Amino acid sequence: MRMLILGGSSEASALARLLAADARFKATLSLAGVTREPLPAPIPQRVGGFGGVAGLVAYLRAERVEALVDATHPFARQMSMNAVAASERTGVPLLQLLRPPWTSVEGDHWVPVADMHAAAAALGEAPRRVFLTVGRKELAPFLAQPQHRYVIRSVDPPPPELMPRDSLAIAARGPFALEDERRLLAEHEIEVLVTKNSGGGATAAKLRAARERELPVVMVERPVLPLAERAADPDAALAWLLRLHAGTPAQLRGV
Ligand code: NAP
Repeated sequence: MRMLILGGSSEASALARLLAADARFKATLSLAGVTREPLPAPIPQRVGGFGGVAGLVAYLRAERVEALVDATHPFARQMSMNAVAASERTGVPLLQLLRPPWTSVEGDHWVPVADMHAAAAALGEAPRRVFLTVGRKELAPFLAQPQHRYVIRSVDPPPPELMPRDSLAIAARGPFALEDERRLLAEHEIEVLVTKNSGGGATAAKLRAARERELPVVMVERPVLPLAERAADPDAALAWLLRLHAGTPAQLRGV
């Protein structure tokens, strides 16, 4: 079965590993090309945008894709919208592989906000030391709140024009260990954490470290994604693909 995984999440990489070991599938992993050094994948990759819905439709047809898995990051809303539209136009079955969001537990002091502008505003007027883990492309709203001191962690360093003055950039890729997160918060005397509600285990330790220090967490809520069939983890996605494979007659699969 020829299939396309829209990647950019650890779940996409995990699904790619599962499929690489299964001769029933011929899968390609698609990356947007925003990370300078993406992790190597065990299946063929393609890199770069498709050119909107029309481009994705053309790709699905040209490559005779039989199943599409949208395993983009939960905040990659545009790509998820395009996947739904392209699936509707081509009839290629679509699955969203979407990890569950984080939920607060006792001892958390979360401030839920709808977007990055609201996150910057929620920091308030008084200067604070802020640990910012929202990705390097979404820093602009924080430039308007220069009274704070920011420690900014992202996979690639932010462009200098997006760095608030006196801020410190740390380029690092998860997973992050609890001990390291504790040390980071203590070393930089962090007073508040700002994060997207990405969910997943790789970057969750900062939430526990913040809870231990009774720090507030400004939590940017997820965008609303278009409805599609969903799986919460790579194993459930594989099960969906196996059902699809079993239900597709060989002649329709072109074999
Ligand atoms: P986005 O706003 O949803 O997408 C913007 C455009 O980037 C899409 O319209 C598409 O261009 C292209 N694109 C996105 N994902 C692609 C993929 N897997 N393969 C090929 N083209 C893709 O996405 P974003 O928020 O900028 O994120 C870009 C990538 O980084 C995604 O793959 C996402 O999984 C990953 N990522 C995002 C975040 C986040 O917080 N947003 C965090 C970690 C990783 P065309 O319209 O030209 O096809």
